[in-house]
Amino acid sequence: MFKVGGGPGEPAFICDMMLGKLCRWLRMAGFDVLFPKELDDDGLVELCRSTDRYLLTRDKDLSGRKMVRSIRLCSEDVDGQLKEMTLKFPDIQGRSRASRCPLCNVTLSFVEREALKDIPDAMVPEKVLEFHRTFFHCQKCAKTYWKGTHWARIETMLRSHGLVIDDPGEIRTEK
Ligand SMILES: [Zn+2]
Repeated sequence: MFKVGGGPGEPAFICDMMLGKLCRWLRMAGFDVLFPKELDDDGLVELCRSTDRYLLTRDKDLSGRKMVRSIRLCSEDVDGQLKEMTLKFPDIQGRSRASRCPLCNVTLSFVEREALKDIPDAMVPEKVLEFHRTFFHCQKCAKTYWKGTHWARIETMLRSHGLVIDDPGEIRTEK
């Protein structure tokens, strides 16, 4: 149904500068989302066309532009915006995806605790290393994430919208 760059059958997006928070949530849910803050409206429209992405915006004028596939979101909060997204794109629900770095849009790699010690810039506190076995690492900004309470809250929120992220625990048992 979709013919854009987020992997087979996956829609990819561009968020306008008012939707930075949604952008981070969609990336954590595994979607390919650009957030070109430096572009004006004309620039956004051009980028959407040249990269074959959907433009997400709350701006009525911008969403009304011709020649661009835009989705106008009405909610002011992320929860409502995610709900609108799944209503517009019901096919994105129920399929698991690898999370992307909320800052860089790069797909995160799973790293086992033992392997993490070989990554000099991983910077994970000792206490966290003690209690967690699997980590997510961004190869671009070097930020490391783990399945603590914050991550659990993110997963719960995404799951409430039918959005599922890959679980490193499950992947480990498949080996
Ligand atoms: Zn990153």
